[in-house]
Amino acid sequence: MKKLRVSRSIRVGNVIVGGGAPVSVQSMSKTDTRDVLSTVNQIRELEECGCEIIRVAVPDHEAAAAIKEICKGISIPLIADIHFDYRLALAAMASGADGLRLNPGNIRDKQQIKKVVAAAKAREVPIRIGVNCGSLPPGKKPGRSIAAYMVDMAMEQVNLLESMGFDLIKIALKAFDVPTAIEAYRSIARKTVYPLHLGITEAGLPCTGIIRSAAGIGILLYDGIGDTIRVSLSAHPREEVFTAYEILKSLNLRQRGPVLISCPSCGRSESDIVGLATKIGNYLQSVNKPVKIAVMGCVVNGPGEAKAADVGIACGKGKGAIFKKGRIIRSVKESEYLRVLIEEIDGL
Ligand code: SF4
Repeated sequence: MKKLRVSRSIRVGNVIVGGGAPVSVQSMSKTDTRDVLSTVNQIRELEECGCEIIRVAVPDHEAAAAIKEICKGISIPLIADIHFDYRLALAAMASGADGLRLNPGNIRDKQQIKKVVAAAKAREVPIRIGVNCGSLPPGKKPGRSIAAYMVDMAMEQVNLLESMGFDLIKIALKAFDVPTAIEAYRSIARKTVYPLHLGITEAGLPCTGIIRSAAGIGILLYDGIGDTIRVSLSAHPREEVFTAYEILKSLNLRQRGPVLISCPSCGRSESDIVGLATKIGNYLQSVNKPVKIAVMGCVVNGPGEAKAADVGIACGKGKGAIFKKGRIIRSVKESEYLRVLIEEIDGL
């Protein structure tokens, strides 16, 4: 892992973003914000999955007003997603939003931007400048890459906010194309000290979106770039939160819940390893402890991996060895693998 880029820290509600704070996990509710009950219920479910900051769409004044009631029912900071109408930003802040996601470029009138910035400054509400590859204004010079143009647009907005004496800034440069997103984030990381919100936008269905997100976000995090992340999937937002943590866990940046190490199985295995690993994986979804579990198919790598786990099994012919923190504690019959493993996991 390269050295972490040192960004300035900002506070989004009770969550510190940047300045070396743990990379935080965000998601966006997929309910109608005006439907307070459904929105609160979905955000609470996401809180349980580990979501640390939630964004809600604010398409109209009814949605902006609903934020007041939503905030009463949730425990994590809420960011209002605003486009075009500065009055919605003012209304969302008046309702108690902890942050704004705004592209000041969408609000053409400087006086209107000034009003939003003045209110944000008074309330210490940070503004995320969100430049999205899909909604760039015309004006890219020939020969300039899309990524470079995204950075130009973001820096223009940063300079505008700074000229108004505002520096509670966070920046996102989202693109569907992974190399474009990486180029853009790497470039802006060299130009500013503001914290960066990473994401691969419109990444698609989980089967491909998880991979695109892991590739883009993972490469940047490994570079030491990124202070908060959101995985965008065409799926329930709990999948986004789950994936975000898996990315962070795979880079040893955060710990949350269990890790399952399981071998792919091959012609050497004499047990149904895929079936056993699937059942254990399903069981682990209900486990919150940061434990490492190994399910291995034979003696080639089995004992080594199982030894490194808190609990592991190295399966053999008709029976397997259960390891606990590096020691073989018992031998079990194949029919007992699942029951004994679950028993040992529960006992950790
Ligand atoms: Fe094959 Fe054994 Fe490796 Fe599993 S641990 S993939 S069964 S060699």
